[in-house]
Amino acid sequence: MADSSLFRPALSRMMAYAPGEQPPPGKYIKLNTNENPYPPPPAVVEAIRKAAGGPLNRYPDPVATAFRVAAADRLNLPGPEWILAGNGSDEILTLLVRGFVGEGQRLRLPYPSYVLYRTLADIQGAAWEQVTFENDWSLPNAFGESADDLRLVLLPNPNSPSGTIISPDRVSQLAGSLDCPLVVDEAYADFADQNCLHLVQQNERIMVTRTLSKSYGLAGIRFGFLVAQPQVISELAKIKDSYNCDGISIAAATAAMGCGDWLSDIRTKMNATRDRMTVQLASMGFSVVPSHANFVWCQHPNGKHPELYEFLKKNQILVRYMQFPEWGEGLRISVGTDEQIDACLMLLERYLS
Ligand SMILES: *Cc1c(COP(=O)(O)O)cnc(C)c1O
Repeated sequence: MADSSLFRPALSRMMAYAPGEQPPPGKYIKLNTNENPYPPPPAVVEAIRKAAGGPLNRYPDPVATAFRVAAADRLNLPGPEWILAGNGSDEILTLLVRGFVGEGQRLRLPYPSYVLYRTLADIQGAAWEQVTFENDWSLPNAFGESADDLRLVLLPNPNSPSGTIISPDRVSQLAGSLDCPLVVDEAYADFADQNCLHLVQQNERIMVTRTLSKSYGLAGIRFGFLVAQPQVISELAKIKDSYNCDGISIAAATAAMGCGDWLSDIRTKMNATRDRMTVQLASMGFSVVPSHANFVWCQHPNGKHPELYEFLKKNQILVRYMQFPEWGEGLRISVGTDEQIDACLMLLERYLS
């Protein structure tokens, strides 16, 4: 243990963020971190091969121009200057917190949701406050109330672990009553039928983050991006590492932007699996909220979530057991292939009957 007086006090005080377990490949059916169970589009794999044969002795494009041009086109944005590329959307979130929230200032997040935001505030020496979702997973008006020292509001939409969504109209309304930026983390938006991208053009203080980790099956290459107004992008670009995205991931992400048909097929397939999971889990007595993402949040009235988690794990299936103090607990199960989900559901059925 290092001498804690060597470090900034904020660091000594904070707890490390614990990401979902990443066991050696092949050991488990992995339904715990919302990765895509299918491999990425073949055109992306080909682009990675080609990039690996390219000039690796040269630094990559510091601002990932090829990707930004392709993404602006794909998302119908006015131009590449509306996009900032990052080493995963987690890096983008780090840049947002660093850029907007000073030491001693505050960020807001809903509860229960993505715990990483709190860690980012802790690293910064900033404070965080949580606004609890209503029972129906809507947001109270308090989520949009301005407050002294409140510098940033973060909203995963669809939310994790619930998979529920706040409508763009409501997001726009909440942003309208805030003095600070509202960042909509759309890590799962490709599985939903609405998103907030169009709001970015209407309001400088609304920003959207996206990732290629979930829908495109590219968690292994680390690529995410921010959509915001050009003057916001150029300010945030000042604080990123010069070469925050490597040449291979830029090539992969650029190719992915040309894979619209692949994405729409995967989305159809995975959403069908998700909806089947929802029905079958409900028939086993779980309470399940309809999900707009690639995972399902479920709670059983018997309360035996740790036992269910352990039983599945003993049978080589990894899901996420989550516990939210003063709120409750449950299992978050990622959408896998149909075979993987059948195996998971069969085990749950066996345990519960
Ligand atoms: C997975 C996830 C991310 C992280 O995405 P990366 O691009 O892999 O860093 C961000 N936000 C939420 C809500 C997520 O679930």
